[in-house]
Formats: sequence, structure tokens, C-alpha cells
Amino acid sequence: MVKTAVILAAGMGSRLGEITKDLPKGMLVIDEKPIIEESICKLIEAGIERIVLGTGYLTQVYEQLASKYPQLVCVCNDLYEKTGSMYTLYNLKDHISADFLLLECDLIYEKHSLEALIKHNEPDVVLASTLTESQDEVFIETNELNRLVNMSKESAALNSIYAELVGITKISYSTFQAMCRYAATQYATNQCESLKLNYEDALVGISKNFSIYVQKLKNIVWCEIDDKQHLLRAKQFIYPMIKAKEKNCPPVQRNILLNPGPATTTDTVKYAQVAPDICPREKEFGELMQFVSTELTRFVADPKEYTAVLFGGSGTAAVESILSSVIGADAVLIINNGEYGKRMCQIAEIYGLKCIEYQSAVDQALDLAAIEAVIQKSKHKISHLAAVHNETTTGLLNDIGAIGGLCKRYQICMIVDAMSSYGAIPIDMEAMNISYLAASSNKNIQGMAGVGVVIAQKAELDSTQCLKPRNLYLHLFAQYKYFLETKQMRFTPPVQTLYALKQAIIETYLEGINERYRRYSEAWVVLLEGITRLGLTHLVKIEHHSRIITAIVEPDTPGYDFKEMHDYLYRHGYTIYPGKLNAMNTFRVANIGAITSKDMELFVKLLEQYLKDIDYSSPRREKHGVSKT
Ligand code: MG
Ligand code: MG
Repeated sequence: MVKTAVILAAGMGSRLGEITKDLPKGMLVIDEKPIIEESICKLIEAGIERIVLGTGYLTQVYEQLASKYPQLVCVCNDLYEKTGSMYTLYNLKDHISADFLLLECDLIYEKHSLEALIKHNEPDVVLASTLTESQDEVFIETNELNRLVNMSKESAALNSIYAELVGITKISYSTFQAMCRYAATQYATNQCESLKLNYEDALVGISKNFSIYVQKLKNIVWCEIDDKQHLLRAKQFIYPMIKAKEKNCPPVQRNILLNPGPATTTDTVKYAQVAPDICPREKEFGELMQFVSTELTRFVADPKEYTAVLFGGSGTAAVESILSSVIGADAVLIINNGEYGKRMCQIAEIYGLKCIEYQSAVDQALDLAAIEAVIQKSKHKISHLAAVHNETTTGLLNDIGAIGGLCKRYQICMIVDAMSSYGAIPIDMEAMNISYLAASSNKNIQGMAGVGVVIAQKAELDSTQCLKPRNLYLHLFAQYKYFLETKQMRFTPPVQTLYALKQAIIETYLEGINERYRRYSEAWVVLLEGITRLGLTHLVKIEHHSRIITAIVEPDTPGYDFKEMHDYLYRHGYTIYPGKLNAMNTFRVANIGAITSKDMELFVKLLEQYLKDIDYSSPRREKHGVSKT
């Protein structure tokens, strides 16, 4: 077992500017303790008995810290200004006599990362992750046996990229000696750049003769802090995520919700709701709301130009807020090709808006030319157009980019109900010419139900303040203005739901919208292949499908009963949803939330069993091909 750790802490942290003027960067505080002290505590907890700190810049600060921990020794590299990290390590050669864990001082990480290395069978292991896109990444190239071949900050310098260097490495004593010999040879050339050698270079330098294993762990949460951007990311996303994961709460029973939201959530989102009681008028809560508002916006637009206005309510509250608050005396053209388009028409009618309804088939792509003809022929001036992005009734994906282009040509302000696309399907409000977008907390963003979200272009929203309010609670401009002034909602917000939403945003950020959509699509492919094999058909053609929710045509057999099928699946932990189309018998399966393609494989097996039980044998029909993304 490894009992020694070495932390490289000599650097000046100059990219952090004035923050590191009097403080070496290991001493940055994110929560209670300096980050290096958090690391030291994790190392001790993992069974490390001796920690050698390779210091340099402001060594006295670390020496003070060392007086608090008997396990700690500081060894100063006096040449820290001119040398790279390998020299700091080389400088420790008289203090190291066993295998050790090598860490960088500016890391925050999960404690299980240490265990993964300590318990690893290989003597030399570089810890790696999937790519973080944090900027300043060190990319790793390996051979087919996952052995280190090369590392570089320049991705172009590598033949292939396998993973990203975390900055925690297990090094055996013999490998360390080889690294020192390699470094000594370099230093002997007497060229100043040889002194700049980093430990990564030495590892690569000896990797031809020493087999160094690269252990890539998916889903590990970590970051290093080299500049102010890293520091902000660490404070807002990485540290809170690590804390949430390390809470060690018992797992909650996992139900797979294949209904189109609320979706299955992670335990970390569920437990985020367990927070101390707080009055939502307190400053701390205002900061949480500000974070939620800004980051929800950032997924689809620049928060400088756009803003997210939050309401306690369902997604429909957000849609109703937009329609009732932003349309004046001119007409709104509403595209209705499903239940949610229809709902917008209902709202418009209730508020007495001048509304032109454009109806289109629920399973067909929109005819842009026909919509344009409606705009041209309209006897009323059309100021707004409202469309659903992903029709939750069917999974039909409307081309909002193209509709946005149309709106631009006719100077029409576009409203999008993105309830079941936001958080998974990439949206760029500015590029797509969307002024208002409605979303909710409980679908692809993977939070709890209870917050309706309106993301609005600020300039457009400002222009609505002169309109006479049609309601009180859902008045968009009033809610926006009050939040700007107070960082509060006008009426009591769902406090705990907002805590969960903050956590859900962190998790969405860490997974990335593209990656989330890839995961959802993977589950969808399993679903489509499964139902196709079982002889069932789906409504919307692949090329117009959102890959998020699928309306499946019910099996035409006397033994079939939706409720019985639902109950059978429900007993096995899976929830599905009835269809919402009057003319067609369908049921719906969504593949959103904290689920994987494995969950969908199990679902298909259960569905197969149910169909067997009712003696369903399908007439082979023409199938749409399923293509993997
Ligand atoms: Mg770096
Ligand atoms: Mg660094």
C-alpha cells in the first residue's frame, strides 16, 4: 500500500494575478479550508502517512500549514522562478524512498480518485478523465493497452487523444528514480529550457522503457485552478458537485420515469432539497436565484443580452406568462401541430388575443412556405409567432431555426415553447432569432417539478413594460423588474425546488448539453430498435424525430389494455404515459432524465414480456430505419 504523497506546490500561480500576490495558490480558500489542506485531509483519510510538499514561492506559508499536520514536510525548491515542476520533484529525491502519490497543489477532486490509484494493481498509474473543456487541458495519448505514449497541452501534437490528465499519479520508487535520471540527463545539457522540464515530460520521456498505465475514470469530478476562470468554475460548479457527491446519503429507490417529465433525477438532485430552512427574502437565497437565472440563460443565450425569469408553477405557467404579457393589439400566429400548440391557442383565446391558428398534421414536418403564405395574406398585422420546439405529444421536432429565419424576414417576434427540448437539444436563441423561450425545471434539465422558466431577450422584454397587464401572478415584465431590483420572486417561490434546480444546473453543466443529448439519443436508439423488433410502429418519421419522446402506436390486439400494460411496467419500476392524440391510439415513451441505454434495454425486455403475455404477434409493417448517432 502506498503510504507517501508528494504535492507539487512551488509555482507562483501568476495567471491568478493579484489573488496570488501574498498567497501561494494551494492556499486559495473555496469553502472553509485552503484547497491544499482539503487535499491533505483527503490523503490522510485515504491512509497516507507522510506528505512531502515541494514548495518554492512563498514557502513560509506552507511551512506554517505544516506545523498543523505532523505528516507534512516542506522541501523548498529555491530555483522555483526558473524551473518547471520536474525540478521541484527532483529536488525531493533525498526525501522519497518509497512508492508515492504525486499531486498538483491546485487540484480539487473527489476522495475516491485517491482510492482508485491506491488500490490499483499497476505500480505506475496516471489518473485521467474524459475531456473537461476547461481550457489548459493536458491531453493524453495511449497505446492499445492503455499505456502512456505521450502527453501535451497541444492536442495537435498527439496522434490521438484518449483522455485528459487529472494531476494525480501513482509513481513507484523505481519509476521515480528513472524520472530523476532522465531529468538529470536533461539538466546536464546546461540549457536553460531543460530546467523548465515538467514532471509530465519526464513521465513521457521514460514511458518507452517503463510501462505507465493510464486509468481513465468517467464521471469523476475534479478541476485545477490556474486562472480566474478556473477559480470561478471551481466555486460555482466543481466544488459544490464534489460536496454533493461526498455527502454519502443512502440511495433513494430508483424509479425509471419514461413519461415526458417530471423525469428521473439523480440522488444528488433529490438530496439538494434537504437544506436548512431559509426565508426566500434573505440575501443568500437571492444569490441562489441569481445563479439559477444566469446559468439557465447561459445554456441557450448570452446572459448579457438575455435573462431567465422564474415563476413558481409548471411549464405551462411560463408559456401562459409569455403569451399573456408580451402581445399587444396585433396578432399572434400560433403553430398548432400537437397538444401543446393547441394549448397555446387556448391561452390566447382566454386572454382575448388576436390569434391566427396555423394547423398542421401532428406527424408531418411543417410546411414553411404555407406558413409564409399565412403571414403574407393575413389581414391583421402579425407581431408574434409562437411554436413548440419538440411536440411532447408525438416527439415531432419543429425546425425552429427555419421558423426563426422566417420571423426575421417579416420582423415578427418569435416565442418558442421549448419545454421538452431545452436542456438536451442544443438551442442558440440569438442565432435562431428567438425572443422568448419557455422551459421548466423538471424535464431535460433533470430538476424537480415546480419552476416555470421564461428566457427572454432583455431589449424585447423591456419593450413590453408599456402594455397593460392582463394578469397579476404571471405578469412577465413585473416579475423580471422585481427580480432585477430585489433578487426575489414577487410571490413565495418553491424554495426547496430551487435548491434542487441549482444542483440540476450544476449536473447539466458538467455533463454538457451535447453529451446529454448523445446519452438520450443512445437510449432512444435502443427503444426504437426494441419496438421495431417487437413489431410496433411509431408515429413520427426518424428525420423529423426529436429522439426525446416517442408516440408508439398501440398494438392492435384484443388482449391489449393501456392501463394493464402501464400497471405491469409500473410494478417493475417503469412509468409510461398514455397518448394524447384523439384520432390515433398511441402511448408515449420518453427517454429523458437520469437514465441510460441500459435502463431502456430493460424496458424493452419488460415490454416484450407484456406483449408475449397478451399473445401479441404483430403483422410486419413497413419500418422506418433506425440510425445510430
Ligand atoms: Mg494547468
Ligand atoms: Mg495547474
